[in-house]
Parts: sequence; structure tokens; C-alpha cells
Amino acid sequence: MLLLLLACLPLLSSADGMPVLQGAWAPATAADTGPPMAPDADGLRRFDPGRLQVFGREASWVLLWPGEGDWPQAPFVLEIEGAGLQALTLHGPGPGVVRTTQSTRGEQAWPAHGHLAFAIAEAPAPGEPLRLRIDAAGVAATPISFALRPTVEYLRADARWLAFASACLAIMGAMSLVAVFFAVRLRDHTFACYAGFVLAYATMLALQTGYLFEPLGWGPSPRLLHVVVQLATAASLVFGILFLDRFANLGRHLPRARRPLLGLAALLGIIGLAGLLPQLESSARALVQPLLVCGGVALLVMAALAVLRGSRYAAFFLVGWVPLLAATVVGVLQRYGALAGWTDAADATLAAGAFNAMMLSLGLADRSLALRHDRDRAQRLADIDSLTGVYNRRAWSERLLALHARTQREGQPLSLLFLDLDQFKALNDRLGHAAGDAALRAMAAVMRAEIREHDTVGRYGGEEFVVCLPNTSHARAVQAAERIRRRLQERARREPDGSLPTVSIGVATLRPGEELAALIRRADSAMYEAKAAGRNRVVAG
Ligand code: GH3
Ligand code: MG
Ligand code: MG
Repeated sequence: MLLLLLACLPLLSSADGMPVLQGAWAPATAADTGPPMAPDADGLRRFDPGRLQVFGREASWVLLWPGEGDWPQAPFVLEIEGAGLQALTLHGPGPGVVRTTQSTRGEQAWPAHGHLAFAIAEAPAPGEPLRLRIDAAGVAATPISFALRPTVEYLRADARWLAFASACLAIMGAMSLVAVFFAVRLRDHTFACYAGFVLAYATMLALQTGYLFEPLGWGPSPRLLHVVVQLATAASLVFGILFLDRFANLGRHLPRARRPLLGLAALLGIIGLAGLLPQLESSARALVQPLLVCGGVALLVMAALAVLRGSRYAAFFLVGWVPLLAATVVGVLQRYGALAGWTDAADATLAAGAFNAMMLSLGLADRSLALRHDRDRAQRLADIDSLTGVYNRRAWSERLLALHARTQREGQPLSLLFLDLDQFKALNDRLGHAAGDAALRAMAAVMRAEIREHDTVGRYGGEEFVVCLPNTSHARAVQAAERIRRRLQERARREPDGSLPTVSIGVATLRPGEELAALIRRADSAMYEAKAAGRNRVVAG
């Protein structure tokens, strides 16, 4: 799936045969009355518009012109990648024409998703540059690149981007909604942390790229957007840390490293909230980026360590987290001028976010399955007598109740065998406890071999067993008891040292209106009659 998403990336920015741009820029000052008119004006620095670059922290002028030859024939599009929440104003072509676009929206600019775009209806005069102002005051100055595109190609790429981003965000949205549902139904906070992480991350991407508001025509202020993006980013990491903690069971696998990680989550939460206060906003902004990178790397290291210490689920986290962290680190490095040629980094972040959401969902599904297995195993262990493998008295009594209800409903008979090994104490005394245990297991095997699948065997006490035979008449129950007695006797004969005892069995069949306790009492007294009559026999009660 990741490969599929990544395979889409080159499609989003295809080659177009337009002239390669050259550029120059300078910080804008309050004294400026307008943009510098020519690339050779004082104070302008050359740059490569095809590579990502961060301009001034406040405002900057950018001039762009074709590297070779003249401007192409209009109409065409000037596309700006990575502007984020910065506002761009295009002066010209021609004197006095000013168009502004901001937060991927603007009256005179084209709707653009994941980037800004100006439609150039009339080509500038030969030798005249396109002049832009970039305003980054109050929002983050992110690295920007510029390219010219034929209109049709731009529209195609934009439609492809919308489909790609929709798929990625829909995956994240759907996964987190399912997780919310599980969190509520199962009361499992791990799912809530997962949902919080994926939702916060998807919100951040949807806002940063303009996806969330551009198609809706909603135009929040860049300042507000900036604050929400910062909050969503911090929230995604806080939830990511809480999720890893629970999901990979750090308390068990990395008890000492767990506290600093949770401390980092708390710090990020506090800084995220502090960023809402105007007095603390700039300090919070300075702190949040390095902390995000530290937090991301710390999560990666912790997940890797947890995998080494045997946490199976940390491996899911690790596989999901690596592409996401790599994309985030690339984004941060690009702010400092590295990897400037890779303008698809923002789209890779979307793909990595969707991949991460899927990996973690797989991990959660795996964990739920393992929990269910554990629960089933615990249930089995609680119900089964460990020596003989038949039901213990409590579990057998529960099943007897259920079988009683069913046979009553269906008008079917219900019979009961009460079995007690003969002279078992003597066998124990003579051959030892281990031989006694082996005899008990042999008895259980004989009973299982002689009854039907839906007959239920239980160990009632030390060497006393009970068998519940639903849909079985008294005569057939006596036959079954006789088969068990005879088979044990035959096996006992074959053991020369007398290590297998014989068995006395009482049989009773439920009478109309009779209580279950009375039925058990009757079977028990029939067994005692068999003992009294000389043992190794079946007595019908
Ligand atoms: P009777 O023919 O009258 O039933 O005589 P008995 O010796 O079988 O009856 P009694 O109730 O006197 O002795 C039961 C013995 O079963 C006593 C106890 O040591 C033994 N026993 C109970 N549970 C276990 C067990 O789990 N393993 C072993 N080896 N012996 C057990
Ligand atoms: Mg007994
Ligand atoms: Mg006995």
C-alpha cells in the first residue's frame, strides 16, 4: 500500500517542458514602496526557484524570470510549492496589477491544493520579471519552490493531488473512527490514544495543505490556522507517545525509559497549550519544532528497544513510524536548506501518515486477537481439571444447568452417572500418589472413550466423577455406565501390578419436576449401593 501511494508521487508533479525559472530575492523593509523592478537591483540575491528555500522571517521580495529565452505564451500557471500558511502577493505582469493569495486561497489566485497558484493570463513583457511578496509574519516561514506550468497540465496535476490526498486522509479518518468505536465499546484506552494520534496528525496535514478548507470555501485567518496546526502537531506526538506506551507495554519492556518519555509527552502538551497565550506564543513556537523532532526520534528509539526486549507490538509501531519520521525529518531539514531538490516531501508525508495509520491498525487487530486467545485460554484453564482434563466441579455444574434447560425445553430425558473408584486409598497407599494420579487419568480416558461428544464429564471430588448424558433414557444410561465399568475392568486386568482400580457407578434419570440436586443425590446413593453390594458394578437409582 505504501508503495502504491509512493508510486503516485511522481504523477503529482510531471515534467512539462516549460522554461526553467531563475530567481533573486531580498528581505522587504517598511520603507519599500513596491517590489524591486529588475533582477540586478541593489541588495537582491540570486537563488534557484526549482529548489526549496526559506525566505525572510517577516516579508521578502522575490523576482522570477525565464532562465533561457522568453516567457512562454500565456495562459500559464505559476505554481508555488510549500508556501504553507504564508501569504503571497503577485505584482504584475504589467504595472499596477496586484493579486494576493494566502493559505491557498485568494480572490485572484486559483484554487490550489497543497500549493499556491497564480494563473497568468497575459505573459510579462520580454525581460520583465514576475514580482512577488512573501509575508511570513505570525506564521512559520516554510521552504518554498516555484515552477511554471501549462494550464492544462497544472489542472490535471491538481486533480491527481486531490484524489491522492483524499485517499490518504480518508484512510486516516476511517481508521481513527473505527478506533474511536472500539475505544468506546471495549473501554480500551489504547484505541483512544491511537484515534487521537491519527486524527490529530490527519487534521494537521489537512490544514497545512489547505485540503480541509479550500474545497469548502472556508477561509480562516492564517494566524488561527497556524495555532491550530501547532496544537494538532503537538497533540499527535503526545497521543503517539501515550499510544506506544500502552500498545508496546513499555511498563514491562522498558520500565526505566518510560518515565522520561511520558515526561516529554507532558512537556509537549504544556508547550502546545502555552502557544495559545499571546505572551508565550513565540517562545512556544521556538521550542515546539526541536521538541517534535526529539520526540519523534525518541519514539523511534523506544520502539526499537522495546522490539529488542521482546514486545511484538512495538514492531508494528516501528514499521509504521519509520516512513513518517523520515518524512518529518526531511521536512525539518528542508527548513535549514538541506534536500532542497525534493519538492514532493509534503506529499510523502501524507502517504507516510496513511501507511502509519494502516500499520498501527494491523497491530491493534493483532493485539485484539492475542487478547482474545489469552482470554479463551484463561477460561479453559479455569474450567478444566488440570490432572484429568475433564471439567472441574464448578464448570461441570454450569454445563449441567445449561443441558438441563435445553432438555427440558425439548422434552428430552436427562441422565446422570456418579462414579467412584474402588479401594483407591489402598492403591495410593500401596503404589504411591503418582500411580494414583495415573489411575485417575486412565479413568478419565475410559469415560471419554465410552460416551458421546455432547455428554459432559466432570471431576466431582478426589476420585469421584460425574457424567451428564442429555437426550439419554435410563436404559441407555445404564448401558453406557456398564460399558465404562467393563472397559476399566478389562484394562485393570491387563495391569499385572494392580495399578488400575475398578469403579462403582450409580445411574439416575431426571423425573418430572425433580430438582437437579435431588437427581445428583439419587445417583450418589445408587453408587453407594453399588459399593455396598461388593463394588465394581452399576446400580440404577
Ligand atoms: P471406596 O472403594 O470405598 O471408594 O474406597 P476408597 O479408598 O476409594 O475411598 P476413600 O474416600 O477412602 O479414598 C479416596 C482416596 O482418594 C483418598 C485420597 O488419598 C485419594 N485421592 C483423592 N484425590 C486424589 C488425587 O488427586 N490423586 C491421588 N493420587 N489420590 C487422590
Ligand atoms: Mg470417594
Ligand atoms: Mg473410592
